[in-house]
Amino acid sequence: MLNYDFNIEGVIGKIKKLNAAKIALQFPEGLKVHATSIADEIESKTNSKVIILGDACYGACDIADQEMMNLVDIIVHFGHTPLPLNYKIPVIFVEAYSRINIEDSIKKSLKNLDGYNNIGLVTTTQHLNVLKKMKTILEKKGKKVFLKKGIGTSEGQVLGCNFSAIKNLPVDAYLFVGSGNFHPLGIKLFTKKPVIIADPYMGDVRSIDEFSDKILRVRFAKIVKASEANNFGIVVSSKEGQFRLELAYHLKEMIQKSGKKAVIIMMNSINPTLLMAYRELDAFVITACPRIAIDDANMYEKPLLTPQELEVVLDKRDWSNYEMDEIKYDENKNIINSI
Ligand code: SF4
Repeated sequence: MLNYDFNIEGVIGKIKKLNAAKIALQFPEGLKVHATSIADEIESKTNSKVIILGDACYGACDIADQEMMNLVDIIVHFGHTPLPLNYKIPVIFVEAYSRINIEDSIKKSLKNLDGYNNIGLVTTTQHLNVLKKMKTILEKKGKKVFLKKGIGTSEGQVLGCNFSAIKNLPVDAYLFVGSGNFHPLGIKLFTKKPVIIADPYMGDVRSIDEFSDKILRVRFAKIVKASEANNFGIVVSSKEGQFRLELAYHLKEMIQKSGKKAVIIMMNSINPTLLMAYRELDAFVITACPRIAIDDANMYEKPLLTPQELEVVLDKRDWSNYEMDEIKYDENKNIINSI
């Protein structure tokens, strides 16, 4: 049995209902190993022509709707939930819920949650289907569990750039259920409260605090290095869910007012090789995915900053008021272009 529920029968039903003749399948990196078998199954059970989109994709911020307009009728996107964006062609989102058992990890986490009564429960798309079950286990052990719906996210769901579901919760600590350090690090930097990880894949329970301290030390070093910079590159991504050009203009003005120089560089995907060409630039500010500057820092020769980190560099913000960059939306599904 597959480790994830791809809801293929449901997808086929929707394809038939929409009478879609041409379909594109989009997968995040971790689910691409399942792409060919899913493409085969959909093609054999429908009359549709199916193609797999092979480019890297890390979130619903990067749906290939623009590129595939006029080429396919629908996109089936696996592994993420929709963002408040106006996608150009119909997109079927398939959460790809994990089938892993979370019960033991939650029970194991109770020891680490000792002393904390009010708990913010957080997870990712892959475990949203068992969120209520997680809550019940914690409540049975006397914990008060806080959940809230976010803007562009479900109850208890965070993305690497969207923490609206946990903003201002009156909790003592957060329990993150899922794998890796990526989301817990974001929760820690955003809330500054204790974050415990219950990882059902590794079977362990751990705190993110030490890792987060290490990352903050790296951030501080990057800010110090960028303080010597005179020429900045402000990077804007053309990906629909990361596009913050107005913010880039604002940052450019801020840099110029501080007596330094800045240029805006627009690109789709950002990588060290592409930025290497700009030898005369001393540092980059990333208005695209907020996690590029933080999580990929070591891949880049020059400092990469978030917009809030640039404020620290330019003495507009105090380091003690460090804030995680987020991609936020207004009620009209527009990305907010301010810090
Ligand atoms: S902007 Fe970055 S963190 Fe946010 S959804 Fe896209 S890839 Fe994930």
